[in-house]
Amino acid sequence: LFAGPVDFVKGVVAMPGLPPADRLEVCFAGRSNVGKSSLINALTGRKSLARASNTPGRTQEINYFALGEERYLVDLPGYGYAEAPLPIVEKWQRLLKSYLAGRQTLRRAFVLVDTRHGVKPVDDEIMQLLDRSAVTFQVVMTKADKVSRAERMAILDQVRGALAKHPAAYPELVVTSSEKGDGIETLRAIIATLE
Ligand code: GDP
Repeated sequence: LFAGPVDFVKGVVAMPGLPPADRLEVCFAGRSNVGKSSLINALTGRKSLARASNTPGRTQEINYFALGEERYLVDLPGYGYAEAPLPIVEKWQRLLKSYLAGRQTLRRAFVLVDTRHGVKPVDDEIMQLLDRSAVTFQVVMTKADKVSRAERMAILDQVRGALAKHPAAYPELVVTSSEKGDGIETLRAIIATLE
């Protein structure tokens, strides 16, 4: 799935702009700076595929990438920008809600969590929205190379604790480092085998 070309399809600002729901898709969500662009670039083997959506406060787009003809990889804008203007935040939240509740072909959301920080309140809000939308989500820990093994174990416990109250949470975490390549193959395999 990841061996072939990965093409940018389009940036979507409103539901009518979504591409036809003709294949399964997965989406990636996370706080700004969590390492989402780096992870998507590591997954797809591209250097700068996921950068366009990265500017704080800019019109927020849902970016669609095609993994061959079989899957869409969907990059949701980073959340939790302190300085994002309220109208933009509200417009984005409406779009996100419609997308999560209305996209039949969305198979799984990956919620990225920084291995240094664990689940923050803003992450928990997204998880609640995923619960309400009945979208199964799986937590992907990022930047695992930045912490010691002991710190990682403590944070993973915190994350598992936080997930226990989310019915839509998939119990297994994926621990990754885009820098070192850890967990990338595992995540590719998960995406490739979803049905
Ligand atoms: P985004 O805002 O979520 O798209 O985050 P970026 O992918 O732009 O990453 C934010 C910062 O974290 C950048 O300086 C990256 O170089 C750094 N970063 C991302 N992933 C990793 C990682 O796996 N290990 C380390 N050490 N740094 C990372």
